[in-house]
Amino acid sequence: MAEKSTHDGRPYPPGAVIAGRAGANSEPPPFLSNAEIADRLASLAQLLSAQKENPYKVKAYQRAAAKLRNMSESLQELVQDDADLTQYAGIGDAIASAIREIVQTGTLRKLETLRVQATPAVASINAHPRLDPKRVQRIYKKLGISSVEELREKLDSGEIEKVLGLRMAQHVRQGLTETHAMLLYRADDLRTAVEEFLLSPCRAKRAEVVGKVRRRTEVIEELSFVIESDDFPAVVARLERYGGRTPLVSAGKDNAVFALSSGVLLRLQRADPKDWGLQMVACTGSKAHLRKLTAVTGSLRELKASFPTEQDFYKKFGLQYIEPELREGYDEVERAAKNVLPRLVTAEDIRGELHAHSTSSDGGDSIEDMAEAVRERGCEYIGISDHSQSLKIARGVSVEDLWAQIKYIDRLNSRLRGFRILKSSEVDILADGSLDYPDELLRELDYTVCSIHSRFGLDRQQQSERLLRAMDNRYFNILGHATGRLLLKRPGYEIDVDRVIGQARKNGCFFEINSSPDRLDLSAENARKAKAAGVLVAVNTDAHGTGELPLIRCGIDQARRAGLEKTAILNCLPWQKLQPLFRR
Ligand SMILES: [Zn+2]
Ligand SMILES: [Zn+2]
Repeated sequence: MAEKSTHDGRPYPPGAVIAGRAGANSEPPPFLSNAEIADRLASLAQLLSAQKENPYKVKAYQRAAAKLRNMSESLQELVQDDADLTQYAGIGDAIASAIREIVQTGTLRKLETLRVQATPAVASINAHPRLDPKRVQRIYKKLGISSVEELREKLDSGEIEKVLGLRMAQHVRQGLTETHAMLLYRADDLRTAVEEFLLSPCRAKRAEVVGKVRRRTEVIEELSFVIESDDFPAVVARLERYGGRTPLVSAGKDNAVFALSSGVLLRLQRADPKDWGLQMVACTGSKAHLRKLTAVTGSLRELKASFPTEQDFYKKFGLQYIEPELREGYDEVERAAKNVLPRLVTAEDIRGELHAHSTSSDGGDSIEDMAEAVRERGCEYIGISDHSQSLKIARGVSVEDLWAQIKYIDRLNSRLRGFRILKSSEVDILADGSLDYPDELLRELDYTVCSIHSRFGLDRQQQSERLLRAMDNRYFNILGHATGRLLLKRPGYEIDVDRVIGQARKNGCFFEINSSPDRLDLSAENARKAKAAGVLVAVNTDAHGTGELPLIRCGIDQARRAGLEKTAILNCLPWQKLQPLFRR
């Protein structure tokens, strides 16, 4: 892929964001943006956490701060109009009164008191509210340091990782870095808020999202819209008051860029109705896609004809309509010319769930409740894949308990009609490549999801061989979250993807696209490779409660980006067709 979907985003123009964030110690500014109010709540959360305050209370302030950063209406104006703040999601009475106090006085008494009481170590990190004070204090003590500068040095030299571990180093890195990237899943809320703002207060006649959000890329650095408006300068002026204040980074006659307080950029492109389709095409595809496309159509800027819709555009050049998720610059333009684009999978094609947890391990809902919720979503089966015995932190199921669970599910199934609960397990792949249960137990399961949850530090060759050995076990069916990545948190362990896919093909094993929004693992690129090798992929939620089942849509997005049709997906099959595939 030409465009990388990682968070190595470009830095903002100097001062763009920082200018909007006055230090809390200065005089109360005349007008507070939502971001500035959010900063104060985040600082309060950090200081409360240092005082070992109730973690739920700390979380509530952190969550409220994140929500406020996305909100379009100005909190200051709402307070001045005496509006009821608790009507907004995530704002309860305590937070509403904190917001009012901040607007009226520029700060919070509680915040100022805690600042005075804070130890020097805690005070030193108050400008970085995402750092956890307890962890930082441990690092300070262990490494004998006392300032953020030293903390940064020790991070860069690798000492934090060496002495206190990878997780700690990741926490510090995240806490010290300004985020300019966001999970797609989170961006969807922001997108709705901005879209409504464009259509209503800004009076755009039309606004449609384009760019990476429309292509459903898993991490985004920018939110882009094509809009129709008779008065573009008025739209720009109104947007500068989004969330109280939103800095304008650059503006031209027909385009503008803003720095949203959640860290990502907002880009607007104005289009006339007669060129709407053309602008949608130009603003949606990746650079690589547009290069291949313009090889067929010529430069988009020099096109003379008018294209009110995207369909008009593709038709004119004899191309099939290209779904946004495919516009990445692989072979989609060639295939569109030959009329052989894949018919991408949709949520309606899914017939079952193959990776779900229950209260038997670390899930929040019972087997029955998970099954009922999946059935209500129109599915025919659910596989209960709780963690295996070695994964103690996730309350892994003992050998005895799994035997009991197998019998229990048999009894449940005998009462069910038209729906089936599959006996499964998310079996740990141990460091030597063996599986975490004896074969005589694995044999009794309908299938397995096998995953790595430990020893991430093995090198690429060791990690790959661990997987190859695991796949030699005839009870290995689906590889769970193949690379272990957590988007914007950790890159995952390295594996030789081609070798692992080759082994899966040889041994009759499968992969999953894990739909959890911060995993989406396989990546679209790896899922493409699996498809090319003819290895089927499951789209799994890995839900740890019924509330997570709808997140399958994130996995479907990813499958579509990989060009998968329903025939490439395991759980688009009914159980009778699936069952033989799991017998090796
Ligand atoms: Zn797992
Ligand atoms: Zn799982």
